[in-house]
Amino acid sequence: MDRVRLKSRVCDVIDARWDEILALAEDIRVHPELGYKEHRTADLVSQHLSRLGIEHETGLAITGVKGMVWGGAPGPTVAYMGELDSVLVRDHPDADPETGAAHACGHNAQIANLIAVAYGLAESGVLPHLTGRVALMAVPSEEYVEVAYRLGLKEQGKIEFLGGKPEMVRLGAFDDVDMAFMTHQTSRETGRMSVAGPSNGCVVKMIAYQGRAAHAGGSPHRGINALKAANVGLHAIDAIRETFQDDDHIRVHPIITQGGELVNVIPANVRLETYVRGASVEAIIAASEKVDRCLRAGAMALGAQVRIRTLPGYLPRLVWSELGAVYRQNAVELVGEDGWWDSTFMAGSTDMGDISHIMPAIEAQAAGFCGTGHGADYMPCDPELAYITPAKAAAMTLIDLMADDAQQARAIIDGHIPAMTKDEYLAFMRQIDRDELWKTPEAGDV
Ligand SMILES: [Zn+2]
Ligand SMILES: [Zn+2]
Repeated sequence: MDRVRLKSRVCDVIDARWDEILALAEDIRVHPELGYKEHRTADLVSQHLSRLGIEHETGLAITGVKGMVWGGAPGPTVAYMGELDSVLVRDHPDADPETGAAHACGHNAQIANLIAVAYGLAESGVLPHLTGRVALMAVPSEEYVEVAYRLGLKEQGKIEFLGGKPEMVRLGAFDDVDMAFMTHQTSRETGRMSVAGPSNGCVVKMIAYQGRAAHAGGSPHRGINALKAANVGLHAIDAIRETFQDDDHIRVHPIITQGGELVNVIPANVRLETYVRGASVEAIIAASEKVDRCLRAGAMALGAQVRIRTLPGYLPRLVWSELGAVYRQNAVELVGEDGWWDSTFMAGSTDMGDISHIMPAIEAQAAGFCGTGHGADYMPCDPELAYITPAKAAAMTLIDLMADDAQQARAIIDGHIPAMTKDEYLAFMRQIDRDELWKTPEAGDV
């Protein structure tokens, strides 16, 4: 059967399953779960895969699900992925009243896309005409949030990496995968689909200033004000911004997560978190070292001490244009040349960057949401474009890659030199992890 017929069969099934796909997307949207806690969402994925008779593993990196469908002959394995987690935006009208979690990044659509692809492949009869396998992967914890909670999981030995894809890599879930792609929704007003361009990577810092408590009115001279120390550190970070170069796209955006407990007590324990983002590993490391120097300056000025925990975040996203070209062709068939936009650099970060370092990988983009990403007004406003069209584009891309003895997939894999092997990647991530306690000699033991 030729590819045109295979593609139309898969798309017909996806259209026929419209009701189930939209119901799933909406169910997940109003039941948001934060990273490494996506048990309900993962159960929904598992239920749909079971209904389709798709063999799958659950509980990978706590909540990850990995299904596998086989073509008619052995060959390469292509992963299509969806992210399970949400973010925390308490003001969002559909935020979980208890946790504040909300699907303000649209990952519910990714899971709808993933399950729609599963329906398309399993119910259309195309699989015997394909070569190789499709790994259908629901991946936990893309948003790098609730850092303290996840460090707790790490200390309990439940995870090593705080991001879901790095953890899945560590556990070997990508060992039998040759290339990978996914779709992320956006609220872009012009253009309907694209393949994302390069992005920033990041490291993540947990910072604790330790001072000494004292009566804030009666005897502040007997205390060491950890909040003042933190403020000096934050001002120092702002002072070095002029040294960041435009091409490096450095972003440092600290927050104070604990600023003091009682107004009449000099704050003794103050905590900050920040990312240090940049367009290359070298730029991130250089900026991270400058930020550490600034944080120490705060401790030095006040005679406090500062503990800086630097954690591996995500690698910058690389763009693999051969795979992108296959996707583009199919997306344009669905939304027209007018519906395509060419993506430029993204200053945010994602753990698809990590995957893109070890295999050919792309992150497709589809509009269909309105409002501000990670904002209280982020909502689906074109359900077909958000939930259905990306699944068709993905399924059609899989057919191009895997039909005709998987010639296109093999050509991409054979010509590919990964930026890092899995072992090099894990070694890199582990050497980022540092825990520094810094104090001036006169600080003594505070
Ligand atoms: Zn996000
Ligand atoms: Zn996202």
